[in-house]
Amino acid sequence: MPASVPAGPRSRAVRALSLVALTTTVLFATACASGSGAAPEDDPTAAIPLPGPEDGGAGTGAGPGTSDSADDAARPSDGPGAGDGAADGPLGTRVVLIDPGHNGGNAEAPDEINAMVSAGPERKACDTVGAESGDGYPEHEFNWDLALLVKERLEADGATVVLTRDDNESVGPCIDERAAIGNETEADAALSIHADGAPASGRGFHVIAPGEVDGFTEDIVEPSRLLAEDLRREYREGSGIPYADYLDGDGLDERTDLGGLNLSTVPKVFLEAGNMRNEEDAALLSDPAWQEEAADAIARGLAVYLMRE
Ligand SMILES: [Zn+2]
Repeated sequence: MPASVPAGPRSRAVRALSLVALTTTVLFATACASGSGAAPEDDPTAAIPLPGPEDGGAGTGAGPGTSDSADDAARPSDGPGAGDGAADGPLGTRVVLIDPGHNGGNAEAPDEINAMVSAGPERKACDTVGAESGDGYPEHEFNWDLALLVKERLEADGATVVLTRDDNESVGPCIDERAAIGNETEADAALSIHADGAPASGRGFHVIAPGEVDGFTEDIVEPSRLLAEDLRREYREGSGIPYADYLDGDGLDERTDLGGLNLSTVPKVFLEAGNMRNEEDAALLSDPAWQEEAADAIARGLAVYLMRE
């Protein structure tokens, strides 16, 4: 219900505090050892002042997203989908792929969108138009808006974030290309953002992890499952949306038919953030204040996973 959501977007300082709390749980040893006295509320514009992998002595190699110029050169650097270069922060060596599902131009390009492409062992349509709420809020727009909010948060923590599309007016890319972008980026984690088009009577969210597909997903099943669990927990807490009541699995699903997962060589999950066709979910999904909260939760879920190592 909208009434359960705070009246306005939380400030970055508040977000920083929530990630501090999260990190003191996950990385308490590092946090305690750092002796950092930086109080996030002192500077609301500052990136979250946490001990990152560099400070903790782990992962100090020239991993993705470091300030090493050779690494930077190897990263995509054009368009809004690219990070602004390595930044300081707890996620400073991490690269995240965010894939906002569908695209605003898909409906006008049926030939392109219906073309068959590889989806792993089988072939599927390049993409689809996506779902829509009862009052006409399109899923592609929701996915895009939420992706930008999540990107902003991860970048504030120092991560390099790559998007699979540059705007919400174009066509595609196809599902196989979306996977390839994450693979070429060598993302540490990849998230495809969607909202479901299930029967209107059902509500709730679920996270989809790749199931075992011979010759395709063996290497990503295990890490993707961890990513799915971290995301499910944080999203459940932060979004106020329950586990999908039209599926079994307590908000976790495993699928072997999604090209975006089958073709990924990096840990990847889909978030079906709610059911666009359900009135109660749609009221939240279309609420800008709720989107800020949801983006906080998604960024936290990704951050917990990225700081596991
Ligand atoms: Zn979708």
